[in-house]
Amino acid sequence: MADLNPFKIAQQQLDEAAKKLGLDAATHEFLRWPQREFRFTIPVKMDNGRTRVFHAYRVQYNSARGPTKGGLRWHPDETIDTVRALAAWMTWKCAVVNIPLGGGKGGVTCNPKEMTETEKERLARAYMRAVARQLGVHRDVPAPDVYTTPQIMAWMMDEFEIIHGESHPGVITGKPIAIGGSQGRGDATARGGVYCVREACKKTGLDPSKATYAIQGFGNAGQYAATLHKEILGGGRLVAVSDSRGGVMKKDGIDPAEIVRYKLESGKVEGFPGTTPISNEDLLELDVDVMYPAALEGVITERNAPNIKSKLICELANGPTTPAADEILHKKGSLVLPDFMANAGGVTVSYFEQVQNTYNYYWGLEDVHTQLDRRMTDAFNAVYDTHKKANAHMRLAAYMVSVTRVAEACKLRGWV
Ligand code: NAD
Repeated sequence: MADLNPFKIAQQQLDEAAKKLGLDAATHEFLRWPQREFRFTIPVKMDNGRTRVFHAYRVQYNSARGPTKGGLRWHPDETIDTVRALAAWMTWKCAVVNIPLGGGKGGVTCNPKEMTETEKERLARAYMRAVARQLGVHRDVPAPDVYTTPQIMAWMMDEFEIIHGESHPGVITGKPIAIGGSQGRGDATARGGVYCVREACKKTGLDPSKATYAIQGFGNAGQYAATLHKEILGGGRLVAVSDSRGGVMKKDGIDPAEIVRYKLESGKVEGFPGTTPISNEDLLELDVDVMYPAALEGVITERNAPNIKSKLICELANGPTTPAADEILHKKGSLVLPDFMANAGGVTVSYFEQVQNTYNYYWGLEDVHTQLDRRMTDAFNAVYDTHKKANAHMRLAAYMVSVTRVAEACKLRGWV
């Protein structure tokens, strides 16, 4: 069976790009490993009076292009290797959208679904006390990720400010707007992905206003993609959506705003009036122009890739396509907009939040959208040009762009 250790996968992806780029051995070895990693044991008093000890991590993968940046996950399966892999992917993500940040990630092995709000607050504050010396706007800046929220970011920022006795809103991003969060963070991931689809349509000759689209996964990323696709691309026909309970389809089009409302009210897409049921697997094989995987990893594999008909696949989810499927889709002529480029809108607006916090002046929503559009469009064009010139599939091309940028920064600093 293939090794599914995510850090090994991240290293293999880098190896492929290093080979294609002819990267020297020292730089390649340096980029295969985190520069720094921290492990903590955090004792927390629970509501029943007993103390529980949590295992926690922070990985600063590479800081050649700037302070490291990346989310904090609270998950029962969190391990040092998942955190290392996610920190590596953050490094390539920040580099592909050309923001002056490195990559980092944090994690706590815990099950927040079994914790009360007061226990979560104590864990958040204790994590910050453990890691505070390694963080800061010029060092490393966390953000929300799986099972961590703007409220958790608020507690952590507050603890950091108590430790330092002064204001430091930029130490963490994804905060509520009332205490230094940015406008436009909520829909930034889907918005960035739709900007990439718009640019890809220009290159492939697809008319986005007439294109059909489908979405797998109907949470934050999927719901915003449904409405923003129509809004930004001036039309398009949404023919199917799904969530963990199953999917629905309607050939002549589903109203995106209506199905978002239905999902928010009922907690499902199943049963949306006028639609017929469709499984998650069949949805991926529908004959639509644009497919948005926005749920889980590993859903497009060598088994179903030959049946995929979409011309454009915009990966809002992390890791939906396996390496073998990438090759098959490339040969078939489907254009994959790879996850660490297509879903980089979120970290880009987090970076804008950090910038606004640093000069204590806040932008309007329009400014956020204009700046995000510019970053995403530039990223798409850099990756697409490399894909054409090097005859590499889009994910490999994205790696080539990012690794070249990070390697250049390492060399200029005299590290390798
Ligand atoms: P979410 O929890 O809000 O939504 C996930 C959705 O996927 C839910 O609708 C859920 O029902 C659905 N789902 C779960 N299992 C499914 C299955 N087997 N088949 C079909 N649907 C299923 O999460 P999100 O924030 O929208 O994130 C979705 C993906 O996008 C994840 O891979 C995440 O890592 C990635 N992502 C999100 C952001 C962001 O800013 N939200 C940023 C970068 C990457």
